[in-house]
Amino acid sequence: MSKHYDLIAIGAGSGGLSVAERAASYGMKTAVVEMSKLGGTCVNIGCVPKKVMWFGANVAHTLHDAAGYGFDVEVKSFDWGKLVAAREAYIKGINDWYVTYLEDSKVDLIRGEAGFVDAHTLEVDGERFTADHIVIAPGGVPVVPDISGAELGITSDGFFALTEQPKEVAVVGAGYIAVELAGVLQALGCNVSLLLRGQRLLKEFDPMLSEVLMDEMLAQGINVMPNIQLESLSKADDGSLTLKCGSGITRTGLDTVIWATGRRPYTDNLNLAAAGVEVNDRGFIPADKFQQTNVGAVYALGDVTGNIALTPVAIAAGRRLADRLFNHMPERHLDYENVATVVFSHPPIGTVGLGEDEARVIHGDAVKVYSTRFTAMYNAFTENKPKTAMKLVCVGAEEKVVGVHIIGAAADEMLQGFAVAVKMGATKAQFDDTVAIHPSSAEELVTMR
Ligand code: FAD
Ligand code: NDP
Repeated sequence: MSKHYDLIAIGAGSGGLSVAERAASYGMKTAVVEMSKLGGTCVNIGCVPKKVMWFGANVAHTLHDAAGYGFDVEVKSFDWGKLVAAREAYIKGINDWYVTYLEDSKVDLIRGEAGFVDAHTLEVDGERFTADHIVIAPGGVPVVPDISGAELGITSDGFFALTEQPKEVAVVGAGYIAVELAGVLQALGCNVSLLLRGQRLLKEFDPMLSEVLMDEMLAQGINVMPNIQLESLSKADDGSLTLKCGSGITRTGLDTVIWATGRRPYTDNLNLAAAGVEVNDRGFIPADKFQQTNVGAVYALGDVTGNIALTPVAIAAGRRLADRLFNHMPERHLDYENVATVVFSHPPIGTVGLGEDEARVIHGDAVKVYSTRFTAMYNAFTENKPKTAMKLVCVGAEEKVVGVHIIGAAADEMLQGFAVAVKMGATKAQFDDTVAIHPSSAEELVTMR
């Protein structure tokens, strides 16, 4: 006997939980299937543990800065294991909270790995469940380079499993995860090499952000190695790792190599063919703006779609899908334009809208750019003097602000309000008409000439 639902979500991560909870709030009979921990990537091996480590790294920077403010601080030690244990206890609290949250929300939790039997039927550990609507939200997993010895390295998943502090670390990649982990590790006292296959960090972002971040990472002592072609990873008798790259470049004496070389959708055991759900050439499940796949009542959300891979995007798409299906809102969908994002690098980056290059491709000579670069007042008193840089990308005679890009202390918290302004179509004149908050770094965004 199968159990029937109005909606089943596959995956209790950001997307699956949001659509299930919202559907249940409209009185729908709803279930979510999860094969691992509740909360998915973000809670367990993504945003949350990353942010804890980022906070830890910030404390290290602040301790270093303290002398400039008159404090005579002696840091005796840093206990990596203690921080990790506290972090995992915090996450366990979130996992446990989700159990109650699902019960309170009247969402059934089905434990196990789901696979399709047909477009309305799932099998989970031999048991069948049917639904009028099935939402695929299984997220993604890290990819490792196809080189000999790749298995000797770890990914971000392995980073979060480290209970002892690594010492000599190579991080491979130039995206979000690479720069975030490299910054954390260096601040917490590891010797970090960051190996990129190209020349730029974060090449999808406005070039100003890449450039300033590169300068700051070098200033922090990170050994940034551009134009690297990976060849092999091997382990010596003493247990140390050697990473060989093209052109005779080799890093020896490593204890940890972290592959931060992208993620792929996790659809391995979903048996999508049984439901007739198509994937694209990279394995992602294409979904239209209504999260609709090529099959009638089957939808896809979050990282598995290959669209913007961020937690709030998966959550917003899930909630809107449930609104559309069950709350008489036939046009409700997520607008994927102008989604703000923060890279928790050191210093952090906040960015929304078009980068300068992108804007020039689309709008040509109608683009006008305002930018500034300065040392924040806080750093007037510290030995390290990281730069803060900001850019507004404007378009047309009315100078509509189509991009806001910030790198520097507090960029992570500064951006959210400016994202509202960009989403609302604010112009440079309206930015300038907003009275500044002083003294702050943020005030530069409303006083730029
Ligand atoms: P997930 O959260 O990955 O959830 C999918 C769930 O489905 C998982 O729990 C999985 O176990 C389960 N599952 C998979 N297949 C099946 C199956 N067949 N049956 C049952 N269950 C299944 N985003 C941000 O916005 N901010 C950040 O700071 C940030 N930091 C990140 C740091 C790291 C290191 C990583 C890896 C990601 C980070 N992200 C961040 C991205 C964010 O985690 C993802 O965009 C988000 O989790 C995607 O949500 P999702 O619902 O698509 O998938
Ligand atoms: P990204 O797509 O950001 O970066 C992948 C990186 O891997 C690129 O820099 C790419 O290089 C590099 N790469 C790929 N293959 C190789 C190779 N063979 N050798 C060397 N380098 C290689 O992916 P991430 O895994 O860092 O993050 C995945 C997604 O998760 C992000 O896009 C983001 O959406 C989300 N995320 C969000 C965070 C946040 O909100 N703060 C934090 C972490 C993740 P190249 O640049 O040359 O193409």
